[in-house]
Amino acid sequence: MPSRCRIDRRAVISCLKDYGIVGAGGAGFPTYAKWNFDLDLLINAAECEPFLQSDKWLLKKHSEELKAVMSWLKKLFRSVTIAIKSKYIHLVKNLNTKVATLPDRYPVGDEQCLTFLATGKRIPAGGLPIDVGVVVTNLTTAYLAYQACCNNKPFVERYVTIIAPKKLLISKLPIGTPIELIASQLNLPTDLVIDGGPAMGEKSSGFTKKTTSALIFAPKDSFIYKMKTQSIESILQLARVACATCNNCTLACPRWQLGHPIDPASIMRKYSFNAPLEELKIASYCCHCNVCTLVCPLGLSPSRVNFELKKELRKVGRPDKLEAVERDWTGVASSFAASRLLADFELPNVPEYTEISIPSGIKLRIYLNSHIGKIPNVLVQKGQSVEKYDPIAKIDTPNNLGVNYHSPVKGIIENVGEEFVEIKVS
Ligand code: SF4
Ligand code: SF4
Repeated sequence: MPSRCRIDRRAVISCLKDYGIVGAGGAGFPTYAKWNFDLDLLINAAECEPFLQSDKWLLKKHSEELKAVMSWLKKLFRSVTIAIKSKYIHLVKNLNTKVATLPDRYPVGDEQCLTFLATGKRIPAGGLPIDVGVVVTNLTTAYLAYQACCNNKPFVERYVTIIAPKKLLISKLPIGTPIELIASQLNLPTDLVIDGGPAMGEKSSGFTKKTTSALIFAPKDSFIYKMKTQSIESILQLARVACATCNNCTLACPRWQLGHPIDPASIMRKYSFNAPLEELKIASYCCHCNVCTLVCPLGLSPSRVNFELKKELRKVGRPDKLEAVERDWTGVASSFAASRLLADFELPNVPEYTEISIPSGIKLRIYLNSHIGKIPNVLVQKGQSVEKYDPIAKIDTPNNLGVNYHSPVKGIIENVGEEFVEIKVS
């Protein structure tokens, strides 16, 4: 571990905020707000959605550096454990760090499932790992935090898994890379591009973000295209009339299995009887893993119903924290269901690295809302020159949750919007 590494907690917190480190696994929660405490750190290397490879690529290609990352983390936390699926344990053997093995099931990377499987502790429903003395941080995030605190590098690029029929690729991409550029260089279909994994990913904004761990290029005739493009009106209409109350969704729900009060079958039943919002409050405990939708024999989507209900429920405040009850966590049905999502893509087992060239004249768009918290203030103006790593947006007051953003390339500021900055590559 280099001697220049920051190890004083206040210096680390300030560095993580300044250099824009947020959860790279998909959530985008500012890391400094989690690392404020000397608790047990659980490094999430589960990468549990089928075919995602970015964290595993990092483990394969940066194992020496990751050893230093682990030594540094041990100075910051009272314990450090890497949680990884047992079939990938060989990738972490040389990191001189305690390992917790996970079953090959989806969604073992959900932080509540992960904490339970790695430590045996059940986080209360509506609670956080900190409630049981644990901090969960994704592997790529920990690596980026080290780059910030030991090498003064802001978060401006990352590994992304690129998935398309018969193609499983990895590439290191600057934040803000246009999806069209990737598609044209690799000859990929653009009927639907999903940002994130097959189960939880959503339609891409057209540019990569700090939270983009994967991109799926889905052609119109694929199963995942049909699943992800169902209109919310038809989903809600079907939910009202077609549920067979078979209970499959509840039995497979990983949060229900953890003993939380979420119960998608009962929500569907009440929803079809127009129950008042008050009676549907348990939808707040849903983590949107989509397992319930994947296992429904009638093709209904309890997860989308929950999502819509949650929007309404947010207006009435955070859900109460409730102790979990004892239930068995199996996740068996969910792993089978998740693996079906990309079955028609006929993907290879091993990813290949591919270089995407970013020629001059290309415009990168950096979204300033790809984290949880406030949008930072833009520091640059149209026509201004920037170097790689220059700050382009800064969070204003110390009390606001949020992080700074930096330029991933040398270029000229092309456009400044309320939620993004566009940079033309020089
Ligand atoms: S699995 Fe489908 S049909 Fe069965 S209770 Fe759930 S939503 Fe209804
Ligand atoms: S999306 Fe479905 S399976 Fe996942 S937590 Fe919510 S209700 Fe449970």
